[in-house]
Amino acid sequence: MSNHLFDAIRQSIPAEEAVFIETGDGGKWTYGAMLQWSGRIAGAIDTLGIRPGDRVAVQVEKSPEALMLYLACIRCGAVYLPLNTAYTLAELDYFISDAEPRLVVVTPKAREGITTIASRYGALVETLDDKGGGSLLELAKEESPDFVDATRTGDDLAAILYTSGTTGRSKGAMLTHDNLLSNALTLRKQWEFTANDRLIHALPIFHTHGLFVATNVILTSGASMFLLPKFDPAEILSLMPRATTMMGVPTFYIRLAQNDGLTRDSVKGMRLFISGSAPLLADTHRTFQERTGHAILERYGMTETNMNTSNPYVGDRIAGTVGFPLPGITVRVTHPETGAILPSDETGMIEVKGPNVFKGYWRMPEKTRMEFREDGFFITGDLGKIDPRGYVHIVGRGKDLVISGGYNIYPKEVETEIDQLPGIVESAVIGVAHPDFGEGVTAIVVRQPGSDVSEQSIVDALQDRLARYKQPKKIIFVDDLPRNTMGKVQKNVLRERYGNLYA
Ligand code: ATP
Ligand code: MG
Repeated sequence: MSNHLFDAIRQSIPAEEAVFIETGDGGKWTYGAMLQWSGRIAGAIDTLGIRPGDRVAVQVEKSPEALMLYLACIRCGAVYLPLNTAYTLAELDYFISDAEPRLVVVTPKAREGITTIASRYGALVETLDDKGGGSLLELAKEESPDFVDATRTGDDLAAILYTSGTTGRSKGAMLTHDNLLSNALTLRKQWEFTANDRLIHALPIFHTHGLFVATNVILTSGASMFLLPKFDPAEILSLMPRATTMMGVPTFYIRLAQNDGLTRDSVKGMRLFISGSAPLLADTHRTFQERTGHAILERYGMTETNMNTSNPYVGDRIAGTVGFPLPGITVRVTHPETGAILPSDETGMIEVKGPNVFKGYWRMPEKTRMEFREDGFFITGDLGKIDPRGYVHIVGRGKDLVISGGYNIYPKEVETEIDQLPGIVESAVIGVAHPDFGEGVTAIVVRQPGSDVSEQSIVDALQDRLARYKQPKKIIFVDDLPRNTMGKVQKNVLRERYGNLYA
C-alpha cells in the first residue's frame, strides 16, 4: 500500500529524534512525535467514520497540533480543507455548504456556533485548541500511534484550498497529492534545503505559503522549523542566530527593516530569505540588502498552482521580478483577448502548465473549463512578461487593469513611477468609473511622515515620465493601504471606497 505524499515525507525523516518543530516557548516536536500524533489523529478521524475522499474542514489557531491534523488527513486519505481563522460564521456557512465536509474541526469557543451550521449539512464537529486540548485530541489519545496509511495515488485529492478572495469570492482549488509533492521536491532542490535547515515560520497555516510551501519543503527536507503564532519582529530577530532561513510576505521584510536590530551581525547564521504572496517593492529589496547583505529571493505562486517561478538560489536575484519558471513548469505569456502566444518582453496574460497545476475548482466545472486552454495551460489571471534573460515580471492582475479612454493602463507601471519619487512610501493605482473616460486613473498614495509631497508635485513629476493617458486624474493621500492577512493590497476595497469620485 502506498500513500503518495506521506510516503515521501516518511522517507525524508532523518531520525525519529530529529526535531521537526520548535515552538516560541521552546516546546519541541520530534519527527517521531510527528509520526505518532499524526497517526493517532488519523485513527480518530477514521474511527469517526471519515473515509478517503471525504472533506475535513478546519478552522483552528496555528499550532503544532494543527499541522498534525493536516498530516493525519493526508495519512487517512481525507481531503484537508483549512479555513482562514478570520472568517465569520456567515462566511463559514458558505464554505461548509460549498465543500460539504463530513467533519468540521474548530476551536472550543466556536463549537456552539458552528454546530448549527454543520448539522444542516450532516457534518460532525470536533474541537482543537492551540494548547494541545480539544475533543479531537481526546479521541486521538485513545488511538494507536501506528496508523496504517490509506492508499493514495498521486492523482488523488490531498486538499481543497480556498483562494484568498482578493478579486472576488474565494474558490476551492482541488490539489492532488502529486501537486503538493512535486512542488515541495522542486523547491527543496531549487532552494537547497537540507536536514540542517531551521526555518522561521511566522505565516498563517491556512494559506498555500505557510501550509504547503513552508511545511512541505521542511518535511521533505527532514529539516526543522520555529513555528510562531504570528509575526513579531523582535521575536524573529531573537531567533535568527539559531535559524538558517525565513519565508515571509513582503510586509515581514518592511517591518524587519524598520527595526534597528536588523544588522549584518543579526543575520550571520542565515543563508536565505524568501518572499512571496504579494509583490515585494524594489525599495524593500534594496534596503534589506544594504542592511543585511542578503538579496531577498522572490518567488511567485498561487493557491491553484503552488509555486510557478523563483529567482535563482545561485545567480542574480533581480528586484521587481519573480525569477525563472521552476524546472518542469512551463510559463508563457499570451494576448489576453486572442490567446496568441506573445514574444519576449511583451505584456499579456501569464499561463502555466506542469505537475503543480491543480485539478480544477471544486464544484465549478464551468469556471474550470474557462480558466484552462485546450492544451492544458492554466490562465492565472495575472498579467506580466518574460524578459530576454528569461525572468518573469508580474505587472498586476487582469482584473486590476485600468481602461481609460480606450487605452490599457497597467497600474504597476504608474505605481513604480510614483513610488520612486522622494517622500513616497507606496501607492496603489486603480480605475474608477469616469463619465468621459470610462475609467479614470486614480492613485492612492502613502507619504513618508513629515513629507511635503502634494498632489501637484506628483502630477508635475509624472509629466515627462508617463504618457498623458497614464497620468492619474486624481491623487488621494492615505495613512495605509488596506491589506489582507497575506499582505495583499485590497484594490477591490479601494475601488469601492472611491467609486463615486468622478460621479
Ligand atoms: P482570489 O483568487 O480569490 O482573488 P488571490 O489570487 O489573492 O485571491 P492567492 O492564491 O492567495 O489568492 O494569491 C495568488 C496571487 O498572489 C497570484 O495570482 C498573484 O496575483 C499574487 N502573487 C503571489 N506571489 C506574488 C509575487 N511574488 N509578486 C506579485 N504577485 C504575487
Ligand atoms: Mg487568485
